Amino acid sequence: MGTESDIKLINEDGTRIDGRTAEELRPIKIETNVLNRADGSALIEWGGNKILAAVYGPREAYPKHTQDINRAIVKCKYNMAAFSVDERKRPGPDRRSIEISKVVSEALTAAIMVEKFPRAQVDVFIEVLQADAGTRIAGLTAASVAVAAAGIPMRDFVVGCTAGKVEGKIVLDLCKEEDNFGEADLPVAVMSNSGKVVLMQMDGSLSLDEFNQATEMIVRATKVINQIQRDALSAKYAASMEGGE
Ligand code: UDP
Repeated sequence: MGTESDIKLINEDGTRIDGRTAEELRPIKIETNVLNRADGSALIEWGGNKILAAVYGPREAYPKHTQDINRAIVKCKYNMAAFSVDERKRPGPDRRSIEISKVVSEALTAAIMVEKFPRAQVDVFIEVLQADAGTRIAGLTAASVAVAAAGIPMRDFVVGCTAGKVEGKIVLDLCKEEDNFGEADLPVAVMSNSGKVVLMQMDGSLSLDEFNQATEMIVRATKVINQIQRDALSAKYAASMEGGE
């Protein structure tokens, strides 16, 4: 969350710094199976974010002591490229990427039918090529499509969005300036059919009313984003049927 700034985030007419209304999403585009060597992959462009998700498995978990005799383990690695942000990011894992990898692994574990694959592991790589706020949610949303594209059985899609508070107003899908200088940032991911919450984190503070308003906006947005996930998968299958792949 931001420090004091002179930057004006809400315009006189109530629109936001990038011209959106309070409940308007940035443009989202998902393309499936963009990598030949992964079992499943997806490229998401969400506003200024460009993120690749690659999935491998299920395969025998290695090293062996990590195996679970009852279920597959989901190992996620979130990485931000050095060139993905304004100020060059030092390459390699840091506290933030370790935390995001953990919460994304847990969210996907809830959706994947891990009990069908004892002693196995599913590897999920999330590579942020260009970052513009909301990368954990965009990465997770893409990873869920990549898991489905890999043919790994899932209970539901995982789909997410953020909302937050900017100059006292609750808004959907924060952009970089809003994330940096706003008063609160609430990333949430749910299972598409059951609505079960699988990721929720918050920076800053919200009243209970504001929290309810934010989560209602997020739930409405996840329906739209889930349709984009489904369309990305069907487009790929339609293309491979035509091409006889
Ligand atoms: N960011 C950055 N450098 C970093 C980490 C983050 O410039 O080392 C930017 C990046 O645009 C990111 C945003 O800050 O998307 C918000 O980061 P946050 O930790 O809130 O996670 P995110 O919103 O991406 O899930």
